[in-house]
Amino acid sequence: MPAPQLFVELAERHGHYCPMSTLGVRLGWAALRRLESELQGATYFMQTCARDGIRLSLNFEELQVEEQGRHLLHFADRSTQWEIELLPKTLELAASYRLLDSDTERDSLLEGFRSAEESTLMKIIQTGSVL
Ligand SMILES: [Zn+2]
Repeated sequence: MPAPQLFVELAERHGHYCPMSTLGVRLGWAALRRLESELQGATYFMQTCARDGIRLSLNFEELQVEEQGRHLLHFADRSTQWEIELLPKTLELAASYRLLDSDTERDSLLEGFRSAEESTLMKIIQTGSVL
């Protein structure tokens, strides 16, 4: 799991607490742990708060963003390409955030995203080899 301190840094950098930036940290963290060599490039296919979280946890300011309406992170190291996509269930939960009535409920939803098992939030696929 990402260290709690990372989410504090995220809020400082991002300016507010929100579900998509929190999920961005989880996406970047998941990507980081799969790298076997230096990161060669990363693109996120949705213009959302997630990009700040990804840049922070992946430590990769060069992250590209293309608006294709998919909550999907594509990245590659020297030998392998990967895709990580947020699951529909995760997106539903994230969308419910703004409908919650209290700070307690909002905090608890974010805390869930910070600590949830990776496989319950996202799908991770190895899409190919870099030739
Ligand atoms: Zn945000």
